[in-house]
Amino acid sequence: MKQLIEDLYLKRRDLVSAGFDEALEYIGRQIPLKILRYSSGTECWTWKVPERWSVREAYIATTSGQKLLDLKDHPLHVISYSLPINRVVSREELLTHIHTRPDRPNAIPYEFKYYERDWGFCLQHEKLPQFTESEYRVLIDSSFEPSNLSVGECLIKGKTEETIALVAHLCHPGQANDDLSGVAVLVDLAKELAVKKPHFTYRLLFVPETIGSIAYLSQNEKLVPGFKAGIFLEMLGNNQPFALQHTLQGKTYLDRVAQAVLATQAPNHIIGPFRSIVGNDEMAFNGPGVDVPMISLSRAKPGFPHYPEYHTSDDTPAIITEERLVASRDLVLAVLRVIEEDYVPQRLFKGPVFLSRYGLWVDWRNNKKLNQFLEQIMLRLEGRQSVFEIAEELGMEFSVVKDYLDKFVENGLIRKLPLVWR
Ligand SMILES: [Zn+2]
Repeated sequence: MKQLIEDLYLKRRDLVSAGFDEALEYIGRQIPLKILRYSSGTECWTWKVPERWSVREAYIATTSGQKLLDLKDHPLHVISYSLPINRVVSREELLTHIHTRPDRPNAIPYEFKYYERDWGFCLQHEKLPQFTESEYRVLIDSSFEPSNLSVGECLIKGKTEETIALVAHLCHPGQANDDLSGVAVLVDLAKELAVKKPHFTYRLLFVPETIGSIAYLSQNEKLVPGFKAGIFLEMLGNNQPFALQHTLQGKTYLDRVAQAVLATQAPNHIIGPFRSIVGNDEMAFNGPGVDVPMISLSRAKPGFPHYPEYHTSDDTPAIITEERLVASRDLVLAVLRVIEEDYVPQRLFKGPVFLSRYGLWVDWRNNKKLNQFLEQIMLRLEGRQSVFEIAEELGMEFSVVKDYLDKFVENGLIRKLPLVWR
């Protein structure tokens, strides 16, 4: 996973750009990927697909030709979607177009003006004192052309059409944890899920943030009813505890499964309501008229910045470890494992079950908690609750209850009904 991040992080992956398409091609060499294209100007509900933005050269120089900033040094030096400019400007004018981060003076901030039509540079705050002259030569050789916005989709067909969306964005140039850590985890998940031949169908989407999800959803509205739940993945390699951000609904089945898995796998995690920790494509999926319950998993802190290097040139592969990426992937897999294995048990017996006859008696010396709850489990097999929901209500581990109820299935005492998404 770390290799993907190192290979792609300095690429100019702006919303609609040659670099974004190259990154998708790279991913397409690792997993089966369909590239969906939406042409510039396409109406996507209230949005429009933007033009492709390219930048060839950019710098700020003194009038005698000494360069004080050069795009060649770092992709973040020019704001994404900057207008072209090629003229001499006054110091006053120039400074209104320079963005810095005083709280992180030796880092270059990440700025974008996708829809505002302006020009600008990003600079280490500590370099501002170098701008002592009254005039500067400024060049941004950028252009806007009609093209196609690309979304990468990896479809893993399950036994049912009921679909889970797994989403990461890929449009942050020159940065690693935000957003390539989510992308790397998603690529690895695609490989794992393909081997498992899952029950549910999965659509793994690599999008430019917000507009990519809106383009995909608006141009594939027939898919929306099939999406039962979704997980947005981002900021998963840095050294902070896991953060679960709930769906808009807050207490859906997926919310509760994720919460239970985190409680056992990541004791130090934080939890917050919808949009209280991070803001990403869950706004499109879980937004008005779409309403696919989508949680977000990250290692973000609520509020700006989500981690010290967030949205700056300090967000490099150096702040990411493979170990943390693996833990992040395994957390998602653990959530999906519960969902994949869960079912609604429907009783086929009458009266209390003669447990010993079927080998279902559990000695308290072997498993005290299970022994204590045998009757409580037996009373909840009416086809109204799933195995997970029974475990949740009784404060038990899903796998313990499931292993036990699987023996009821083997003995013909219950039948499995499909999961009801709620
Ligand atoms: Zn971001």
